[in-house]
Amino acid sequence: MSRFFSRNFAALTPYTPGEQPQDKQYVKLNTNESPFPPSAKAQQAAAEAAASLQLYPDPTCRAIREKLAALYGLTADEVVVTNGSDEVLNFAFMAFCDNGAIFPDITYGFYRVFADLYRIPCEEIPLKADFSIDIADYKGRKETVFIANPNAPTGIPLTVAEIEEIVTSNPDRVVVVDEAYVDFGGESCASLVKKYDNLLVTGTFSKSRSMAGARLGFGFACPALIADLETLRYSTNPYNINRLTMAAGLGQLADEEETRRNCQAIMENREYTVAELKKIGFSVLPSAANFVFAANPHIGGKELYLRLKEKGILVRHFDKPRLKEYNRITIGSREQMEALLTAVKEILEDDFQ
Ligand code: PMP
Repeated sequence: MSRFFSRNFAALTPYTPGEQPQDKQYVKLNTNESPFPPSAKAQQAAAEAAASLQLYPDPTCRAIREKLAALYGLTADEVVVTNGSDEVLNFAFMAFCDNGAIFPDITYGFYRVFADLYRIPCEEIPLKADFSIDIADYKGRKETVFIANPNAPTGIPLTVAEIEEIVTSNPDRVVVVDEAYVDFGGESCASLVKKYDNLLVTGTFSKSRSMAGARLGFGFACPALIADLETLRYSTNPYNINRLTMAAGLGQLADEEETRRNCQAIMENREYTVAELKKIGFSVLPSAANFVFAANPHIGGKELYLRLKEKGILVRHFDKPRLKEYNRITIGSREQMEALLTAVKEILEDDFQ
């Protein structure tokens, strides 16, 4: 830390992104990216947009907001677009947490970082023993609620009816539902934003739409909440979506069929991987996401992570008390999953010889 760094931030522990190693080619199953490239339309649109990079992008992001609104049955004033969904979550913590924040003790690590960044008092509510959320903990609260649905790194989803119970029991607090992984078998609450003025649903192009590298996220809410988020967007970076990303995003949305096919393939690969992992003794949480959270009684989570890395396969390990026996494994292509399963079997066999 330099002697110039503001005291406001000196004690911050920043978010640690998953490894993005540049040294060699790994089978990368550690950051929940899609194994599929963006659609040809997205790639072509981005290439064409490159010819206009001397110009600023449209700060209103109108074209993409209208397209998202049409796809989800909303109006453009119910949509904000951001630089990854991390940015809309950042704005939500800034905007709506004067009364504190609550979220599960095991969830997306960035929530805690944002809360600390803005000095928002927060309570981390323990998940149940089976790693599921007890919705009773989130009803009738004085704080702003953040829930990833499906949750991460567990992959366990809540139903729309359960989310709706949380939303209706907190009429004077915003409930933020982070749907980064909803397209892999979860149920989206997007349509509920027409019904409730205290619900913000966030989503991303990083997972189901194969655009993690472009950084494009979105938020759905009633126009008043969206206007608050826009105030923060215009107060930080009105050009948060660059021309290449905007064009690619529009191209991707023109190919929803392909997105659906890709999600279907991931879900099939997930079911296959879960069944194979269970055959070799793993316990695997019931995931509705593009990853699974799995532990094997014969090998510690960290050791398995390290041994897989030696074999060129990256998964995500969290060195925390309730999580350390597990690894979060992104569901990729069938070939990637075969490579993972072969490596895991070799590691387990080595140990038994
Ligand atoms: N929410 C959850 C639960 C996530 O795991 C992630 C990232 N991995 C995000 C939001 C943010 O993703 P992005 O900024 O790429 O949209």
